[in-house]
Amino acid sequence: MSETFGFVGIGNMGLPIAGRLMDAGHSLVVYDTRERAMHPLVARGAARAASVADVAAQVGTILLSLPTPAIVQAAVLGETGLAPGQRVKRIVDLSTTGPHMAARLDETVAGLGIRWIDCPVSGGVGGARAGTLAVMFSGPGADYEELLPTLRVIGKPFYIGEKPGLAQTMKLVNNMLSAAAMVLSAEAVVMGAKAGIQPGVMIDVINVGSGRNTATMQKFPQSILPRSFDYGFSTGLMHKDVDLFMAEARSMGLSLEACQVVLEIWRRAVDALGPESDFTRVVTLMEKAAGLELHGAPTAV
Ligand code: NAD
Repeated sequence: MSETFGFVGIGNMGLPIAGRLMDAGHSLVVYDTRERAMHPLVARGAARAASVADVAAQVGTILLSLPTPAIVQAAVLGETGLAPGQRVKRIVDLSTTGPHMAARLDETVAGLGIRWIDCPVSGGVGGARAGTLAVMFSGPGADYEELLPTLRVIGKPFYIGEKPGLAQTMKLVNNMLSAAAMVLSAEAVVMGAKAGIQPGVMIDVINVGSGRNTATMQKFPQSILPRSFDYGFSTGLMHKDVDLFMAEARSMGLSLEACQVVLEIWRRAVDALGPESDFTRVVTLMEKAAGLELHGAPTAV
């Protein structure tokens, strides 16, 4: 059944996710602080809103795909955010905000008669375009059942639990592993290249062998070896995810030594490359330290 959804945050992930909802026949009311970000969807018939409040006045369910917990909080609870008496009844947050923020927002918007659903996603821009994202849902089971056909348009839904923030924790666990795989693969492949092995050959071997992971299977062939560094996820957001993971771990009394080293490497990457750089550029730090550059195509992408 086609419905009208609000969609706030038309960035790297928001644009392809919103595009798939329109492909599936849904109507959208869209808002982004960057006017031009809305153009491709408005050109396809989406209605352009002037603020989150404007979206909330028009639809029952709003999806968010915003960069950071602070931005999600400001967008939703700021002056032009949610207010009593609006039509909105449910917010589905696709952003990565961490469990504490999700729980806080759940409690705050409940006072306005709105249900907060945390629903972070994993699988990158490629997964968003293809509709193959891992979609992690926590919130009321009835909302999950009702939203399932819509969630299936964007990927494979998983019900993580009822407690607000559980899906955010799931997402942080996943991204910690993705962040670690990226920096460890970069270091290991640079070491092999220094010893004289062709990077393309190395990636081929690893992807048949036991070292394979999402960095060697996707990031190296698509964005690192071709030197395009255009994977579509920023260094700043990768650092945010690892930082949120470690904050949660500390709040549980866990120190997690290897994860702490991964966090420090991503902090250095933000300092050296800037938060807006594509996160695959982290490899250039390892290359610089080794005095080489990785080039060459793998034969079996
Ligand atoms: P992005 O920076 O490309 O997009 C965010 C969009 O939000 C931008 O268009 C920006 O203009 C808009 N925006 C910022 N502040 C706003 C506000 N106050 N009101 C309305 N719009 C506002 O980020 P992204 O890569 O699309 O990531 C979005 C979320 O999804 C993040 O939380 C990220 O961690 C998560 N995520 C990203 C990926 C990925 O591969 N890029 C994968 C999984 C999850």
